[in-house]
Amino acid sequence: MERMLDNIKDYTLPELEAWLGERGERPFRARQVFQWLYQHRATEFAQMSSLGKELRATLAAHFHPGNLALAARAESADGSTKFAFALADGRQIETVLMPNLTHYTVCVSTQVGCAMGCDFCATAQMGLVRNLSPGEIVQQVVEAARAIDGDKLVRNVVFMGMGEPLHNFDALKAALEILQSDHGFGLSARRLTVSTSGLVPAIRRYAREGLRANLAVSLNAVDDTVRTRLMPVNRRWNIAALLDACREVPAENRYRITFEYVLLAGLTDRLEDAHRLVRLLHGFKCKVNLIPYNAHPDSAYRAPTLEHAHAFQRILLDRGVLATIRISKGQDIQAACGQLVRQGPPQAGAALAAG
Ligand code: SAH
Ligand code: SF4
Repeated sequence: MERMLDNIKDYTLPELEAWLGERGERPFRARQVFQWLYQHRATEFAQMSSLGKELRATLAAHFHPGNLALAARAESADGSTKFAFALADGRQIETVLMPNLTHYTVCVSTQVGCAMGCDFCATAQMGLVRNLSPGEIVQQVVEAARAIDGDKLVRNVVFMGMGEPLHNFDALKAALEILQSDHGFGLSARRLTVSTSGLVPAIRRYAREGLRANLAVSLNAVDDTVRTRLMPVNRRWNIAALLDACREVPAENRYRITFEYVLLAGLTDRLEDAHRLVRLLHGFKCKVNLIPYNAHPDSAYRAPTLEHAHAFQRILLDRGVLATIRISKGQDIQAACGQLVRQGPPQAGAALAAG
């Protein structure tokens, strides 16, 4: 019957305060509920012992706690873990937990599939199945944090899993608010990064509505012919339009702007491309994240050698453009950038194969 109830994790703190207020409860009760959900990571209302019995019963009559069912889990040799979670409708999404030196980073999905159709990306092959709700986004962080063995904490969340975050704007906005709430996860905006393929009107809306998170923009090519071939979105908003929109996002909203650039052998990784990239980004206070292509089954593209990636990076660095090479984690378990893909809802009774 859980499906008839609302997901309590779809509610931001002010929304939950309003809901409780309408029922004659005091606002601080909402803060307590948030603490139970996100700090103690309670899985049932019955565990919320600081709330009265009656309030717990009211909550349980209207809401479900938004838990996700683990469908599969795979561990990479590099320490990262990929989870497949089954949603209430049987659809599946993927989440990746990645260890850093002192903390963890969680990579969350924002949609089941993706509508953007980038030619090099495995998720694109699914098409867009549906948007995730705020609670379904936030719960990925809760579940990943719960799986941590030891006392290192989740400190960074990157919106770089399945889906185009800015194509699911309202849910993204609510999820960011919940993750940042002092009574929720209390993550600083500087520790959150939203990656977009370049939906220009949504980037403008992001600026206008004052969303707070780092912005990462998947530039991926330096000329429109190549970018259009790789990313259909470029037909609608080309490189110049995209960079114009990025310039308009006030620094205090985007904290830091990162341009992601997938290195595809012979296509985007030519040394002359590096020189063009330097010219394109002239005047931007930004960082470039070079991502050597991660192959997936059926992919037609190839990655450059690491040596060549370093030569590309060197050109940027020598000209004052901060550039890093992202060696994607979880490649051996298909958890790296652009490798996330889940099939549609399983047939009734079909086993959800592990791994
Ligand atoms: N949809 C968003 C976020 C998810 S993809 C976006 O496109 O920005 C995160 C990053 O992985 C993007 O920069 C994308 O260009 C890159 N990517 C996708 N497929 C990849 C692949 N197979 N190898 C390397 N990077 C890939
Ligand atoms: Fe969607 Fe990003 Fe993959 Fe493009 S790269 S299809 S926007 S998930």
